[in-house]
Amino acid sequence: MGKSKPPKKDSQVPQKHLHSRLSYLHQAATYLATVGSHNGQQKATKSAECTWSVADRDLTNQGSVEATRLLMHLRGVSRKSQIRIAPRVKHSICKCCDVLLIPGETMTEKLANPSKGGRKSWADVYEIHCDKCGTIKRFPCRRKSNQTGREEAKPVAEA
Ligand SMILES: [Zn+2]
Repeated sequence: MGKSKPPKKDSQVPQKHLHSRLSYLHQAATYLATVGSHNGQQKATKSAECTWSVADRDLTNQGSVEATRLLMHLRGVSRKSQIRIAPRVKHSICKCCDVLLIPGETMTEKLANPSKGGRKSWADVYEIHCDKCGTIKRFPCRRKSNQTGREEAKPVAEA
């Protein structure tokens, strides 16, 4: 009585529905966050007399609040299902307040070098500041060895 069915060919990706849910949540959050801010910009340019009515601001706020809520869900789903969020997506979410990081709107990008006097060019760090809670994300930005041939020739240890 062979009751066991052969595995379907579609289900090669495990937990496919969760992956699609994660991507849907991110897309929805991005949409809400950007639509809210774009509306605000249009209205601001249209009415040059600076008539930011309270309703407009509320709408914009609501969009970003909703986006933050969706991103909180996204984190929750990924935690519970133990699916890793794609780095591209993860880097666009503040790990502290779950706000969607949009360049020039909710975050500030900066290139920093914490070495003494900034002399060590390989210590360049790409920083993302969340404008809402002030959390800083840091990413090392390695220069390509082609650009600085001298550094590549040297061994790593240089105390
Ligand atoms: Zn934040």
